[in-house]
Amino acid sequence: MLIVMKTDATDSEVQAVLRVIEDLGFKPHSMPGATRTAIGITGNQGAVDPSHFENLSGVAEAIRVSKPYKLITLDLRPEKTIVRVGDATIGGEELAIIAGPCAVESRAQAFAIAETVRRSGARFFRGGAYKPRTSPYAFQGLGEDGLKILAEVRDVYGLKIVTEALDEAGVDLVERYGDMIQIGARNMQNFSLLRRAGKSHLPILLKRGLSATLDEWLLAAEYIMSEGNYQVVLCERGIRTFAQHTRNTMDLAAIPAVRRISHLPVLVDPSHGTGKNYMVTPLARAGVAVGADGLIVEVHDQPDHALSDGAQALTPEQYEQLVSEVRAIHEVIVPAPVS
Ligand code: PEP
Ligand code: MN
Repeated sequence: MLIVMKTDATDSEVQAVLRVIEDLGFKPHSMPGATRTAIGITGNQGAVDPSHFENLSGVAEAIRVSKPYKLITLDLRPEKTIVRVGDATIGGEELAIIAGPCAVESRAQAFAIAETVRRSGARFFRGGAYKPRTSPYAFQGLGEDGLKILAEVRDVYGLKIVTEALDEAGVDLVERYGDMIQIGARNMQNFSLLRRAGKSHLPILLKRGLSATLDEWLLAAEYIMSEGNYQVVLCERGIRTFAQHTRNTMDLAAIPAVRRISHLPVLVDPSHGTGKNYMVTPLARAGVAVGADGLIVEVHDQPDHALSDGAQALTPEQYEQLVSEVRAIHEVIVPAPVS
């Protein structure tokens, strides 16, 4: 059920609807928009009777939701969500760029890369302190020491920190040191982690699972939102296909497909999406061209010595070139407002 309030509905009329929903034992999700407030309802097993709401003052419509998702959808919120990370945004007019190493390896490495990232004008620094590795014998990340280095990067360079939580305890730690919690592809359907992320005050970067359909991905976002955290950013990072010329196949069509259904911002990750250094910039350009709100990209000061994902890491020079190219494309797609 979706309750659409009249454009002139007052705050107390909205509050009265929220109370009715709570009295029925359900959870209301109020989404104030540019022209009207809509209220999503979750926690109900069967259909909710619209007559509970139709005659309440300020209510324009009570609509039955036939789709599997309730909160990620444009029906609830027709305008795009702008996710705010401190004074930086994702989903607004500015192209969001999240850049940094696959893994934090040392303070010197993180600082050297952060210098490049800051110079490029990007607002976000990425770097894993906890790495989901295919082999248990591969470098697993520096753990909390890595998070401390990231917190220093934030203080010194003013960059927002995006870093992965592998489990619920990891969310507690990232909340202490970071600005945005990454949920990785392998964890996209870790439902207890999604629910924990839904209770966090930090925004969430939700990567698409390696074999996730669009619906599965959006329902993973729905898990987070159903717990009350509406600050969710989707990220297309490539899916597993029969292709052998790339590490993953970056599904560019997912960007307009998400856009048609959801108000959530969506990024592309051309690093994991290709796995190959020489493909990262072309696919970053393509991602921005199909309408992504930004990108997350791996950069290393010494790719040949990287402890993880070196083959897809850009050098600082390549990264700077990428940023100037994607910004030029973004300007064509989203013309700057005339001042
Ligand atoms: C990463 O960003 O380094 C990462 C492990 O990503 P993914 O979950 O998309 O594989
Ligand atoms: Mn990586």
